[in-house]
Amino acid sequence: MNQKKLLTHQVLQEADKKLLFEKEDQIAAQADAISTTVFRHPELGNEERFTSKFLAEEAAKAGFKVTFPYLGIPTSFRAESGDDDGPAIAFLAEYDALPGYGPGRNQNGHACGHNWIAASTFAASAALKEYKKEKNFRGRIVWLGCPAEETTSEKITLINRGAFRDIDAAFQMHLGQETTTTRNELAMTILWFTFLGKASHASGAPFRGINALDALNLTYQGIGLLRQQLKEHVRIHSTVREGGAAPNIIPDRTVLEVYVRSADKNYLEEVIRKVVNCARGACLMTGCRLEIRRDKYTTFDINQNRLLSGLLEENLQALGEKISVFQDPYATAGSSDIGNTSYAVPLCYAYMGTGEYSDAKTHDAAFLSVADSDFAHAKIHVAAKAMAAAALEVFRNSQAQALLRQVRQQLIEDEKANGNANRAGTVLTVSYDAEGNETGRNQ
Ligand SMILES: [Zn+2]
Ligand SMILES: [Zn+2]
Repeated sequence: MNQKKLLTHQVLQEADKKLLFEKEDQIAAQADAISTTVFRHPELGNEERFTSKFLAEEAAKAGFKVTFPYLGIPTSFRAESGDDDGPAIAFLAEYDALPGYGPGRNQNGHACGHNWIAASTFAASAALKEYKKEKNFRGRIVWLGCPAEETTSEKITLINRGAFRDIDAAFQMHLGQETTTTRNELAMTILWFTFLGKASHASGAPFRGINALDALNLTYQGIGLLRQQLKEHVRIHSTVREGGAAPNIIPDRTVLEVYVRSADKNYLEEVIRKVVNCARGACLMTGCRLEIRRDKYTTFDINQNRLLSGLLEENLQALGEKISVFQDPYATAGSSDIGNTSYAVPLCYAYMGTGEYSDAKTHDAAFLSVADSDFAHAKIHVAAKAMAAAALEVFRNSQAQALLRQVRQQLIEDEKANGNANRAGTVLTVSYDAEGNETGRNQ
């Protein structure tokens, strides 16, 4: 359904945007300082202690009401301003860094540009807040601190603890090669297969052993052959975590770590069942027992809200951005907890292109010279103005609000029907005997 087309008129006038953009210009220096300060203090997921405290203080300085820490997550915060009634629109900050940069590959770095996300979402929130002082509208602006995107997907914890229950729409932009709202992400989870055999002398008594490395190898081969029978946009990739103690001992324990991804979070579950069956079959072939652990976190693909992304695109174009349309939204996809957010609240997630400045891609070491460059600083304000203007249209347009309420209601009903919340946030361990029969399960 093209929700954009359902908006019969837009209420925002050029004068409204002009005033909003003036407000953004007034807080631009603070936003630039936020980008640079976060960039210079790169902290990994769940360790963003300096950064989260700094951002919470900046929000308080800008006049937001701040809750820090938020919902029992030590490095999350929530800053808000506005009315209890009317729509609430959230801008989702990220601020965790990545490991392994610098000459010794032992330094953290903002190679995903999350410093830029923190700054651009702050600027959008603060500009709207200042605009609201002058030209009142009903509603609430929320700047939400979402930690640990790169590690433990803490947006899932935020969702499960109710952070989005009172939110009507959410926005985030991320740096990428091209400016687009059509690039998607893959739903994903991690499985650990532990194969349990029996050790014996590999030369003197191999017939007494049960080879856990054979079971792992057969599982790996089985997954390789399975690919042919799968739908498009599935990725399965793995690594051997434990391969046995020594060549002269038949390995009695091996561990395979497998990432499973799919463009469709429901099909992901089907693929997982098939991958698990590869391991069960391998155990039957070798006589090994099997233990499977599934990660606590399953991220989802992005359910882009086309009303919001249409509004954002128009504003980006008006500010001079060229919008790319991806023919295959999953061609270069990774996975992110932003996808889970899109199934909890109407969400617009877009990329701001840095390709004309550098061909470095996020997570490259070379991207460190992009993430806080003058080019990226200029784009903070393009993103902030475009997100704020799209949000202001929603704040002022009752028809848009009604459409978003419908979408949100549908998301709530889908979650009840599909049990999405259960798939995010549980650890599942299942054991099988050497015949491939399930012998135990805990969740
Ligand atoms: Zn990243
Ligand atoms: Zn990122």
